[in-house]
Amino acid sequence: MRAYGHETDGVTAVPEEAAHLVAAAKRLLDDEQTLASTADWMTEVAGPTVSGRPWSPTTLRRRLRNPAIAGLRENADGELVKGPAEPLIDRATFDALQELFRRNERGQGTKPKHVHYLSGGAGTCALCTRPLVPRSTANGGRGYVCEAEGCGKVRISAEPLDEYIGERVIARLSRPANLKRLAAVRDRLTADAEKAARFLDGLQGHKEELARAYGKRDLTLAEFKQAKAALDEERRAAMAWARRGKALEELPELTAEGLEAWWQDTAGREQRRTLVQLVVKEVRVGPATVRGSRRFDEGRFDIHWR
Ligand SMILES: [Zn+2]
Repeated sequence: MRAYGHETDGVTAVPEEAAHLVAAAKRLLDDEQTLASTADWMTEVAGPTVSGRPWSPTTLRRRLRNPAIAGLRENADGELVKGPAEPLIDRATFDALQELFRRNERGQGTKPKHVHYLSGGAGTCALCTRPLVPRSTANGGRGYVCEAEGCGKVRISAEPLDEYIGERVIARLSRPANLKRLAAVRDRLTADAEKAARFLDGLQGHKEELARAYGKRDLTLAEFKQAKAALDEERRAAMAWARRGKALEELPELTAEGLEAWWQDTAGREQRRTLVQLVVKEVRVGPATVRGSRRFDEGRFDIHWR
């Protein structure tokens, strides 16, 4: 099935469909229409989707989130780079749409994508100490699962665990000493993020320097390749730090009342995860004591605080 706005090759633009996407974007951004009303409008004016069904908010959002509509693609580092597809809308409009969708997600608490608070290694298997990975379960729920070779014995339902950890984090931060510690962690990470941003700023210079040294035969090809690989590795790490720095900027003022109100009323799941991971170093999860038990068992895990 082709994507709306592009031919089956995924590259060639279909001009009249592109025009409808542009008009839909304008309705959302300039006229501040809702996604639902814009989906209805698409069905009425542009006709059904490529699968012959009426547009739904989900299908419209999915299409408008796809970088291909702006002629972009996501590379292995998660950055948007020029892709093969002909652009249907301009870059500025595409970026504005993504910002709008992000804002809406935060605002209405409906989360199309589940964010696991303990992703990225914060949840570990008590048996083999390796990270638990976020997975969907067979019945459509979310879980944390040990997929380590030779182990794989731990899995736990994500929602109740995330809720419980969140409550513990907020309770912990009602104590001034813990708030102070959080501020210190945040400041240290912010400094690291700034360092990473400076490194990324200077990266092009480093690369050119390397290329010049190679050009003048100051470096062998092997040395050049090795230095370049090292730079790329540093770049990946720096990008991760810079992303974390951006998340830190979204934290509220660090007072007990401020944090609790923010957690309850303002924060989206990604922002909550940022806070959880600033306070929690690791949650070690053991196997279920009773096989197949659905009861939430606090005895199954240990929280290690930062
Ligand atoms: Zn394990």
